[in-house]
Amino acid sequence: MPDILTTHSEEETTEAGRGLAAALSYGATVALVGDLGAGKTAFVRGLAAGLGLPPNNVSSPTFTLVQEYRGPVTLHHVDLYRITGTEAEELGLEELATGKAVVAIEWAEKLLRPIPGAITVRFEDLGGDDRRITIER
Ligand code: ADP
Ligand code: MG
Repeated sequence: MPDILTTHSEEETTEAGRGLAAALSYGATVALVGDLGAGKTAFVRGLAAGLGLPPNNVSSPTFTLVQEYRGPVTLHHVDLYRITGTEAEELGLEELATGKAVVAIEWAEKLLRPIPGAITVRFEDLGGDDRRITIER
């Protein structure tokens, strides 16, 4: 059964990400699915905070496809918005999830094949500041 919650502000979405971080093990991949402005990056900011990394560094990577935040755990933050599924294949994303690392992938719906064992987090804009977040593990 998925976990479903509704948030009413960006801060609440960040808190939801922080909550998921607590449940992640090393090598976890979090596949984030949802439209532009749905809250994926806000959620990743919470993941970072929950992993003991400075959340303020987390933004949508505009010119880099993968940003790496290093700390007690390394967070690889991927944004596939600007590339095709075929190009995404070539990034070798599965290999990022090794050692003391966690991978978060925005626009994961573009992947041609799902990443085995990934936790999927879906974001839906319900209008205004309301977002429905569905976590499938
Ligand atoms: P994405 O990465 O999915 O494109 P962002 O996290 O970058 O989305 O942006 C979400 C935008 O929506 C921000 O401008 C944020 O302030 C706004 N927002 C409003 N309500 C929420 C909410 N409940 N959760 C997350 N973001 C929200
Ligand atoms: Mg984003």
